[in-house]
Amino acid sequence: MSPDGPLRCPRCRKVAVEAHAPFCSAACRDRDLLDWLEERYVIPGPPLEDSDAGPDGAAPPQ
Ligand SMILES: [Zn+2]
Repeated sequence: MSPDGPLRCPRCRKVAVEAHAPFCSAACRDRDLLDWLEERYVIPGPPLEDSDAGPDGAAPPQ
């Protein structure tokens, strides 16, 4: 531990700025937050594809 060393951004290792500590910028902070959210809330499988009988589309003839 270096007590006087500058805080480094955990994403890009640049020197962090106080406004966005411990990150160097809002971009890195947002990026980290998004990664955290994706880890925590895992998306369950790929999105469903549109079926022929969509609720707001024309129903297929039968
Ligand atoms: Zn950064």
